[in-house]
Amino acid sequence: MHAHLAGTVALITGAGTGIGAAISRALARDGAAVVLVGRRPAPLEDVAAQIRASGGTASVFTADISQRAQATRAVEHAISEFGRLDIVVNNAGAMLVGPVADAPEGEWERMIDVNVNGTLYITQTALPHLRKSTNTGPRQVSDIVTISSTAGRVARPGTAVYSLTKFGVNAFSEALRQELQPQRVRVGVIEPGNVDTELASHTRVELHEGVQAQINSIERLMPEDIADAVTYMVGRPRRVAVNEILVRAADQSW
Ligand code: NDP
Repeated sequence: MHAHLAGTVALITGAGTGIGAAISRALARDGAAVVLVGRRPAPLEDVAAQIRASGGTASVFTADISQRAQATRAVEHAISEFGRLDIVVNNAGAMLVGPVADAPEGEWERMIDVNVNGTLYITQTALPHLRKSTNTGPRQVSDIVTISSTAGRVARPGTAVYSLTKFGVNAFSEALRQELQPQRVRVGVIEPGNVDTELASHTRVELHEGVQAQINSIERLMPEDIADAVTYMVGRPRRVAVNEILVRAADQSW
């Protein structure tokens, strides 16, 4: 096992499916003990079982991170279980596409609650522990990685509010990067293009056909392609800060 993250602890939100599951497996493979956070227990337990079967260490915590108290408890669980925290991956997210004029009540709130508020709550609660790990950790550096999107760089019709949340986490991450830079807590964003996950399936039924047509028009990225970017970002020596990685599908023009 390639174990350059041995002795570290990583918390990943949205770890039961898609990109979060791939990131969790990759960080565990690199030696981190991983704390898997999400709302549905079954997929989280499945990923934990895969990790343990490969010789890794994983702990599951069920939480809706858009609720501040639950986000706080998720971070506290990592500390009570493993005694430290070195890496946080803000991956949980929702994408509900469609024109602004037609958006049903509640869709914008669902995206803002998890993509923005969940990221803020987890990050703030984790901060004291990440700071501490820069002194006590095997790497002498800590990492906050947020999974943004190409939609955090380019706004397009149909994804106005999703883009708002992803531009938002990019801005938050850049300000936070400057605040934390003297303390060796590195802050980075990964901006995936179109990845083969269940993300788009939550779009309302009447828009499914159009969304699927666009998705199926190209060869999509795999979740592991994004996990590669995360392991590259957190795997750098402490003198290196990779703050932003944009990963498009090669077929993707937007
Ligand atoms: P998934 O739908 O598979 O993953 C989203 C994860 O977030 C799920 O595991 C879900 O688990 C979790 N989640 C959602 N809401 C909450 C919540 N309130 N509290 C805790 N966990 C929550 O899709 P992806 O893997 O594609 O998405 C992961 C990230 O990647 C997202 O931030 C997304 O915006 C981003 N992204 C994805 C792209 C793609 O093409 N797929 C492109 C660019 C960015 P549960 O429902 O059990 O809580």
